[in-house]
Amino acid sequence: MNAEFEGRVVVVTGAGTGIGQATALAFARAGARVAVADVAEREGQETAARIIAEGGSARFFKVDVSRAVEVEGLVAQVAGDWGRIDVMHNNAGVTLPSTPITELSEADFDRVIAVNQKGVWLCMKYGIAQMLRQGGGAIVNTASALSFRGRAGGSAYVASKHAVVGLTKTCAVEYGGRNIRINAVCPGMIRTPMLDDRTRDPDRERRLVALHPVGRLGTAEEVADCVLWLASDRAAFVHGALVSVDGGWGAC
Ligand code: ADP
Repeated sequence: MNAEFEGRVVVVTGAGTGIGQATALAFARAGARVAVADVAEREGQETAARIIAEGGSARFFKVDVSRAVEVEGLVAQVAGDWGRIDVMHNNAGVTLPSTPITELSEADFDRVIAVNQKGVWLCMKYGIAQMLRQGGGAIVNTASALSFRGRAGGSAYVASKHAVVGLTKTCAVEYGGRNIRINAVCPGMIRTPMLDDRTRDPDRERRLVALHPVGRLGTAEEVADCVLWLASDRAAFVHGALVSVDGGWGAC
């Protein structure tokens, strides 16, 4: 435990598993009160319970980030109960098995865009409104190494993650003068449940590892470290930045 986020209120979406769970745990260990937001009830409850078992402060909020009414409700409830929202980590995301665009259904495309792109837009729309009311805050969006390159079979996911960069930059320009810092973390392939579903095949895993010059996949904790730094006062002059945590993939 350290005290860097003592007294701060932090919202993490997609905090049930993977990167979101790691950042929720890390913020709590740094003293924050954490709103664990996820559409998956069991996983979200488990993250909150784990934080509380460690002596931290957390509450689970069941939220589908693609629905405006639910995101608005999340922000209103957290700010109403805990007084403010200092940090939002907009991280909830979905992916699809690799599928050529000619084979991808409209429904699958719509779902990925709704969660990964519109979800970030909604979280910033309502989160920034709250931060303006209270006089400031910090936002970290989860973009991706695939925010900067194409990948065969990834039309919906890659498009949605490129959009997260556009949203991050645009809101950074809009709100830089209002004491709201807005940045994105851009992970490479991270070992999470989302990825493990697709790496049961060892050949595929070897191909994914080979994308990263460091010769391995990343961990959720390594991404969480960067998210906490971006959200902290140590990053006071970091704004509109797209910070890669990708084992060098972006350098290729
Ligand atoms: P990663 O951590 O690599 O981003 P995961 O699949 O482990 O990938 O985590 C994504 C999280 O986002 C999961 O906990 C999942 O339940 C959550 N999530 C997916 N869709 C939504 C949604 N519409 N609203 C809120 N959370 C969501």
